[in-house]
Amino acid sequence: MEKPVFTGSFTQQEPIPEAGIEAAVAVMRSGRLHRYNIAGDEEGEVAALEREFAAFTGARHALAVASGGYAMACALRALGVGPGDTVLSNGFTLAPVPGAIASVGAEPVFVETTEALTIDLDDLAAKASASGASVLLLSHMRGHVCDMDRLMQVAGAHDLQVIEDCAHTMGAAWRGVPSGRHGVIGCYSTQTYKHMNSGEGGLIVSDDPDIMARAVLLSGSYMLFGRHSVGPSVDRFENVKYEMPNVSGRMDNLRAAILRPQLADLPAQIARWNALYRVVEAGLRDTPGLQVIERPPQESIVGSSIQALLPGWSPDRVRALLAACAARGVELKWFGAEEPVAFTSRYDSWRYAPAQRLPRTDAILAGLIDMRLPLTFSEADARLIAAIIRDEVMGAQAQAAE
Ligand SMILES: *Cc1c(COP(=O)(O)O)cnc(C)c1O
Repeated sequence: MEKPVFTGSFTQQEPIPEAGIEAAVAVMRSGRLHRYNIAGDEEGEVAALEREFAAFTGARHALAVASGGYAMACALRALGVGPGDTVLSNGFTLAPVPGAIASVGAEPVFVETTEALTIDLDDLAAKASASGASVLLLSHMRGHVCDMDRLMQVAGAHDLQVIEDCAHTMGAAWRGVPSGRHGVIGCYSTQTYKHMNSGEGGLIVSDDPDIMARAVLLSGSYMLFGRHSVGPSVDRFENVKYEMPNVSGRMDNLRAAILRPQLADLPAQIARWNALYRVVEAGLRDTPGLQVIERPPQESIVGSSIQALLPGWSPDRVRALLAACAARGVELKWFGAEEPVAFTSRYDSWRYAPAQRLPRTDAILAGLIDMRLPLTFSEADARLIAAIIRDEVMGAQAQAAE
């Protein structure tokens, strides 16, 4: 019998909602694409998006910027991180995270990873003491949120300010507190493969008006910071306006127009992602040789991607499994590969950072497979994908036992 094959695309997102297309066309018809180019008492799409995103996250202030990577660099600089400083961050994350640290002249110190794919809090405590760092850029990589209560305790004990990289956790929460609202600053991405799609784009939230005033100036506000609906009051800019450089990285009205209807739809989209996630998770659970990542009950997830571990598998066996799945249309990513491929790279490929060794992270990444779940997949697709992976893993296990 022919083995079933999946024919969908793992990189195909849904179209922009019609309301977003209409709003974008209206912005283009107006000619007023720059965020500060507003007519009369118009709020402007960017300021409106900031107001709505602040409400969505429960933050006092929100700032829209050019990308998620820009958001993180801006957050680091707003906290005063500069050349020669060390910044703690996850050993398991994506390249824009250490890239943001390098962009302000600082050096990342990478922290180990647990089997839950979250930051290792014991290693964090040890490295906070040893490095003397004052900032943690915490990446909620692939949407896995660590025990945020314990993390904030560790941060408090070591005087660490926490910036959250929520590129994969927009809409997620820990014990009901939105991701991005535990630390002093939350950073989000609206790049095509994240939870809202404006091609490129980013958002920053914080309750701290002085940090946010610096971020607004850095983002390229000139002296027009009074036009931010949910920005700090203008008196907060009095001293810093002479001090902060303009590191131009604003969002424009066109992108904000595309994003606002997506923000309104986000809770419904999250429910759809999680339905797909739970179907794949159920299909993979109890597969011999494969370990699903158990999600703690305190975590409200956004299942836009799914991961699993192949504990003890040799690189050759993982490669053979990836090839077998790919032949049946299922594109798995592998974080154990020696060389960086496409969007996936490992901490040892970021050679601008001081060389570091993370043996526990290495052991996890050696067996870590990863898959996107775009909303263009149906639940039937998700069932088929899980069945294909399960089938190929069991075939590989049977072969290994021979
Ligand atoms: C995508 C991503 C970012 C940065 O987002 P961009 O908008 O592409 O700059 C940051 N962190 C993680 C983990 C990401 O995947």
